[in-house]
Amino acid sequence: MLGVAKDPLEHTSMYERTEEDSEGSDGEGGMGNVSRVIIRPPGVSGKAKRGQICFDAAFETGNLGKANLVGEFEYDLFLRPDTCNPRFRFWFNFTVDNVKQDQKVIFNFVNISKARNLFNSGLTPLVKSSSRPKWQRLPKKHVFYYRSPYHQNHYVLSFAFSFDKEDDVYQFALAPPYSYSRMQSYLNLIESRQQQGGEKKFTRSLLTKTLQNRNVDLITIDHVVGKVKTNRVERCVIRVIIILCRSHANASPASFMCQGFLEFLLSSHNIAKILRENFVFKIVPMVNPDGVFLGNNRCNLIGQDMNRVWQVATEFSHPEIFAIKNMLKEIDNSDSYQIDFVIDLHAHTSLHGCFMYGNTYEDVYRYERHLVFPRLFAGNAQDYASANMIFNADEKKSGCARRYCCEKLSDTVNAYTLEISMGGHYLKDGKTVALYNEEGYYRCGRNLARTFLQYYRFINVLPAPLPSEVRQKKRRPRTHNSRSRSKNRYEVKPRPKTTRSYAPISYTNLSICYDSGGSSDEGGFSPTRTVAPGSSHFSGYRNYRRVASCTMPCAGTTNQQQQLTHDQFALLRIKSGRFDLAQEPSLHDYGGKSKSQSPEKQTRFELPVNVPPKPYLSIIDLNQLTRGSLRVSSFED
Ligand SMILES: [Zn+2]
Repeated sequence: MLGVAKDPLEHTSMYERTEEDSEGSDGEGGMGNVSRVIIRPPGVSGKAKRGQICFDAAFETGNLGKANLVGEFEYDLFLRPDTCNPRFRFWFNFTVDNVKQDQKVIFNFVNISKARNLFNSGLTPLVKSSSRPKWQRLPKKHVFYYRSPYHQNHYVLSFAFSFDKEDDVYQFALAPPYSYSRMQSYLNLIESRQQQGGEKKFTRSLLTKTLQNRNVDLITIDHVVGKVKTNRVERCVIRVIIILCRSHANASPASFMCQGFLEFLLSSHNIAKILRENFVFKIVPMVNPDGVFLGNNRCNLIGQDMNRVWQVATEFSHPEIFAIKNMLKEIDNSDSYQIDFVIDLHAHTSLHGCFMYGNTYEDVYRYERHLVFPRLFAGNAQDYASANMIFNADEKKSGCARRYCCEKLSDTVNAYTLEISMGGHYLKDGKTVALYNEEGYYRCGRNLARTFLQYYRFINVLPAPLPSEVRQKKRRPRTHNSRSRSKNRYEVKPRPKTTRSYAPISYTNLSICYDSGGSSDEGGFSPTRTVAPGSSHFSGYRNYRRVASCTMPCAGTTNQQQQLTHDQFALLRIKSGRFDLAQEPSLHDYGGKSKSQSPEKQTRFELPVNVPPKPYLSIIDLNQLTRGSLRVSSFED
């Protein structure tokens, strides 16, 4: 059995077969992974020479069933089907060594079971080597996906590769692997960090054991302080958010997303603190540890698709799902808890971007409520692909987590599948695809956490941020950093959508809108928070629409705000007018307002002319204005 967190490149053998056994590579009827199989040209035997490639997939998450040499440079590769289920063949992860310097090869994957996938729209396999341990994408021009007449017209994925260092071990994979051991190491790490740090943020417990005796871990974050939350039916409850991940073994991107979410939630970030203090999180980071370990594409040890068996799961064949269901039922039946969300994280193999699947309800209001979270998420994530969202209630998916939870749990539960692509996401032009890397997946997890905050502010469970807080946020230097980072990656114009849309569908905008509508004459240029429209009794979705319909007037208020700022500055100019008499309006035009200024402000305005006045809301450079070259950006900086 494999040790904990070993690098796959160490070639530990999962099946502990001898080299002789594995020579034939189909010694187990094609069911096992290749285990250091050396492929020699026909008629050649004896000690392996350089260039007679050695294939290996007998390590954790490895998958390669068989390799055949079919030409001078060309190999047909067979993916190993899921254990006890021959239907699923898509995940691959294997190593190659004993190569010659500058040896060129063509690898053909000839038994892919999922004909419709992303290889025709930009996805390419990953490669790394022992001296270059960072995953890299193969260039698109070396990757081909096509129907092959040489393979009974099956779809074949071919790529050309040249080995540039003969001492290296090369590893190829469909997506960056995220193994069971890696997850265990990560949980151990954050546990020890917590012990050293002193502050207890989470507990790790064992939900159940799998058929192969691996742990199904449960991370609980339960630090709700202060009063319990009151929901719509005036019952006092603590709201619970459940995150499930990795029911499908190939969905390593989902694991990165889950880690990004967890990392953020346990951080000292303000949003994370608010979430921890107000909600209980229960996270199952790996629902299918056996399948992940075995390098399956989808199923668990006994070939069961873990996202199709929720209605029929038993303790003996699906202990993981059985235990999760029990946990959900227990929380759902509790008087002091209320499940708000069950979100199941997956990776998608045939669509780009991240997006959510939801349910449909006959109850229009429940359906409207159900639409809110994905809409808010879409506003938070640049890579969100709204076109891929589906809300359904079809029979085919009745065994999946999302459908089960919406049917069997209380009405308050919103169950979604959150998918993130194995490929990439479209850029703003709608044509170019930027392929994801690990950081992209982590970011999606962080966006998920942010969306929870936004959602609860939106339904008035959490108070809206004070205007002063929002203003501070805009000035944080970190925002600029992230802007420049994303500029490198996406080549977009100076203000990428992420930073802009990060601002909540803003309560502050609303209050500016309301305040300035009625009270600008009173000199109230500092927006105060008012009760959001439709706050108490409407469903979230109604709120949402009302907020949305406020966007236009809000846009208008920018002008009003500028007008105020302008007036204020005009006053400032007047105050300092004694130093600069050229073409200024006379003081009594603004007499009424000058009285309303506080003494403190007046002293600030009475500065010598060569010292620029201290900025308040924003600065308009009148010298520029008179020269007709006022830049709009001066309002935004
Ligand atoms: Zn899935």
